[in-house]
Amino acid sequence: MLPLEVLEQAAAEMPDVNGTGQSAMEMSHRSADFLPIIEKTERLLREILTIPDNYSVLFLQGGAVLQFAMVPINLAGDSSGGGRKTAAYVDSGVWASKAIDEAGKYVNVRVAASSKDKNYSYIPPAPPPEAGDAYYYICYNNTIFGTRWQSPPDTGEVPLVADISSCIASEPLDVSRFALLFAGAQKNLGPAGCTVVIIRNDLLGAAPPWTPAMLRYDIHAKEKSLYNTPPCYCIYMMGLVLEWIQGMGGIDAIAGRNQRKAALLYDCLDASRLFRPPVEKPHRSLMNVTFVVNEGDAVRRAALEQRFLSEAAVQGMVNLAGHRLVGGLRASIYNAMPEEGVKSLVSFIEKFEKDLR
Ligand SMILES: *Cc1c(COP(=O)(O)O)cnc(C)c1O
Repeated sequence: MLPLEVLEQAAAEMPDVNGTGQSAMEMSHRSADFLPIIEKTERLLREILTIPDNYSVLFLQGGAVLQFAMVPINLAGDSSGGGRKTAAYVDSGVWASKAIDEAGKYVNVRVAASSKDKNYSYIPPAPPPEAGDAYYYICYNNTIFGTRWQSPPDTGEVPLVADISSCIASEPLDVSRFALLFAGAQKNLGPAGCTVVIIRNDLLGAAPPWTPAMLRYDIHAKEKSLYNTPPCYCIYMMGLVLEWIQGMGGIDAIAGRNQRKAALLYDCLDASRLFRPPVEKPHRSLMNVTFVVNEGDAVRRAALEQRFLSEAAVQGMVNLAGHRLVGGLRASIYNAMPEEGVKSLVSFIEKFEKDLR
């Protein structure tokens, strides 16, 4: 979801933003009209996430999935010293294992921990890094299974990298604990098309010589994300979303609202006898609430889930199916989802269960 206020503002400003007589879609990316837009978006992101000065903020393309390759190439792709480097990965779900598969093309992946044994329903305890780990990689919020880290693991001097695509700006995060953070914009920051990378400056410049220019963090940092044409409209929209977060009272207010929303839904599911949230309590995501039907055989469960989805759709509640890879049900309650939206879902869940009895 995007905040309705943001969509309305974008609609009003579509033909003329900031009195320039142009849409943000039409601007030259190096023009005096666009530069204030990208600078504002970066400034707001730095304020809201409290990004220290020794980190660069990059606005890239290719989605979070391209970061699955850029991270290993830029942080550990140089094998000129002889032999491949090793990187530690925690396998906490679909996006983490996709990152593992992609990284394996460039580095030796050491899977430090995994929660695959229980269908990724928890965050595995993270063992400390080993000598030789070039970096340590986690997926902070597991969008598909609905788990999230409570706090970053302590990896000492080993750079900690996290995919925060589905939880960026949802609650405070101590950026200084990480060496690199990245997030696709489309879950919590704006429309699809832009990926935010937050990288500590001492990590820039280690990409091997064969690295395509577009995949080098140091080039994008040096050129302030204007090496080539960036996704200008998406950067403009992110600026509006970040202004909306400020207007809501900033990250602490947003986090409080997100906690209240998640608690409403988990309390309802914990009290239900028809539904069950599969994720272990301490690891539950604030953003992606997964649940399954908890009665009957597989056929009955699937039929009830289908009925739940179609009756919900009649009430205007959509996108409640679990990810195609795992099934079940999932409510993604990103920043823009109002508390009223969650309350409506809770009422619907209660009524669905009652009508069945
Ligand atoms: C959605 C998502 C991705 C994929 O992002 P794209 O922008 O589609 O490449 C990767 N990681 C996580 C945690 C996600 O939620």
